[in-house]
Amino acid sequence: MDCIFCDIIKKEAPSEIIYEDEDIIAFLDINPINYGHLLVLTKQHYDNFLTVPEDMLHKLISRVQFLAGIVKRATSADGFNTMSNNGVAAGQRIFHFHFHIIPRFENDFKFNLISKSYNENELKTISAKMKEFIEIYSGQLNG
Ligand code: AMP
Ligand code: ZN
Repeated sequence: MDCIFCDIIKKEAPSEIIYEDEDIIAFLDINPINYGHLLVLTKQHYDNFLTVPEDMLHKLISRVQFLAGIVKRATSADGFNTMSNNGVAAGQRIFHFHFHIIPRFENDFKFNLISKSYNENELKTISAKMKEFIEIYSGQLNG
């Protein structure tokens, strides 16, 4: 399987690695939204957020928290976004799951998202559907 992030992990492709341990690696995004934009991922290849095993996800999110602090300090950012894109519709381009950490500065830019509003029926319909699926899938929850 062709995966540029797996190549980076194997040191078969160049990248500016900032952090790595047994399971996790972080390197600079090659096309940063702001300088210092970091990608954090598991060394094991998982396609998206839903397929990362829970123990790995715990370690990954712990490193994302640590590295977000590092990004903020190193760039003197006023804030940061942590985000992940999952699926083509959500803008995912590399199908090796990763979190983005994007340093943010006062008035640098706005994500141009247009919010909707609900009427009561729409709100209750989607809410009921989610609760129905929680009933079905809650057996998968640990802890
Ligand atoms: P996503 O759209 O969430 O899948 O994000 C993929 C990200 O990977 C983009 O922000 C790209 O700029 C970044 N990217 C792609 N190739 C490389 C690379 N070789 N080294 C570092 N970052 C990369
Ligand atoms: Zn991969």
